Amino acid sequence: MFHSIRWRIAFPYVSLILVTMLALGLYISSFVRQTYLNDLESKLANIASIQRVMIAVTLFVTTIAVILAVIIAGRITRPVRSLTQSAWKLASSDQAALPIPPNRDEIGQLAQVFNIMSTHLSGQIEDLKTEHATLDTVLQKMTDGVLIVDELGRVQLVNPAAFKMFSISVPNPIGKPLIEVVRHHQPEEMWQRCRTTGEAQMVDFEVGHRLSLEGIATSLSPAITGSTLLLFQDLTHQRQTEAMRRDFISNVSHELRTPLAALKALTETLQSGALEDPPAAHRFVEQMETEVDSLSLMVNELLELSRIESGRVPLNVEPTPPLNIVNPAVERLQLQAERAGLTLSIECADDLPLVRADSTRVQQVVVNLLHNAVKFTPKGGRVTVSVTKQDRDILFAISDTGIGIAAEDLPRIFERFYKVDRSRATSGTGLGLAIARHLVEAHGGKIWAESKVGKGSTFYFTIPLA
Ligand code: ADP
Repeated sequence: MFHSIRWRIAFPYVSLILVTMLALGLYISSFVRQTYLNDLESKLANIASIQRVMIAVTLFVTTIAVILAVIIAGRITRPVRSLTQSAWKLASSDQAALPIPPNRDEIGQLAQVFNIMSTHLSGQIEDLKTEHATLDTVLQKMTDGVLIVDELGRVQLVNPAAFKMFSISVPNPIGKPLIEVVRHHQPEEMWQRCRTTGEAQMVDFEVGHRLSLEGIATSLSPAITGSTLLLFQDLTHQRQTEAMRRDFISNVSHELRTPLAALKALTETLQSGALEDPPAAHRFVEQMETEVDSLSLMVNELLELSRIESGRVPLNVEPTPPLNIVNPAVERLQLQAERAGLTLSIECADDLPLVRADSTRVQQVVVNLLHNAVKFTPKGGRVTVSVTKQDRDILFAISDTGIGIAAEDLPRIFERFYKVDRSRATSGTGLGLAIARHLVEAHGGKIWAESKVGKGSTFYFTIPLA
């Protein structure tokens, strides 16, 4: 009871009144006693003296009361002020705990409850901050584009991936209409469909420079009433791979069909009488051999690439003279070049340092490049292999005076199954350069090409010195 504010305020006043009443009682009793003893003159003087005393006591008691009121009010309001300060700090997130006042009155209890509440709140605010930071980081780092749109189609949130995908140029897209921000009608239509049906919607479309996007719209109601989440995935790579696989299947089928059809025709011709004509039969069997060779080349290339890509081809690396690589490769292609009416030559210094190479594998690279050079150079042209030292590598260059490759195709020719002109009746699966690239890179080298349409091409690759 003595810790209650009511008691703390009442106690001094009650005590003051009691003391005053006691003092006045004593004074009046002494006055009454004197009144009966003294004469009239002194009675009047006593009355005047009582009046003065009464006024003095009243003034004195009032002054004491005021002083006490000020002191008590100050002591009561001090913890209230400190509580207010802490509440302000908490409100402005500067979460200092409130120093608990030593007294255990209502304000002390309030401060204690306040501190417990503040600790709880601080914990919850910290948890929320961590959660918010995690979500924010996920949104910032996501490679998928994310947009949130309200019920009127105004953008509420955009992540950096979406900025990049749609090349958003609006400086602050928040609150702007979706169509104004993304400038493509497909996301707008997808959002409209999702809003009217309430069901998730999908759309496939292209933006910018052949960027294939897949968009998914999902309603966020009831968590965020009326809002829709738009998610965009970049499927360019998958689409390209799918297209390449489709091309590959059609290429391989085409490549297989041609020699198989030729073989079928040759066999039928032999069966229908050519066998009786030995010179003709001999010619047909030679043609059959060529077709079988081309079939086995293709099957070998396919197997080779799949083995190289899955890392199942161990390299037998040892110090090797560059000419030991180039000479056998040129010899293998010499006859083919002559038949095609081309000059095939080597330009190479004799004193070249050794390279760290699996000579069979690097020979295969030179053969693939020479094979292409011969294949894509018209009659009368030249094919040259040159070998030079360059810093810590040996640089191999295979140049031709052939049809050349257009600048837009040049970066893609090392991709699997890529052929510049599919309609052109040239044999090949589009795997030769992919195999060459894998083998060169496995040796720690680089491969690239320079070309001019109608003038010719040069393919370069490096192999590190031993
Ligand atoms: P392919 O089996 O079709 O020759 P490659 O991977 O060896 O496959 O070559 C890919 C494509 O690059 C070829 O189809 C051709 O269009 C182009 N190419 C390669 N080498 C040359 C070259 N020397 N001259 C012109 N085009 C070339």
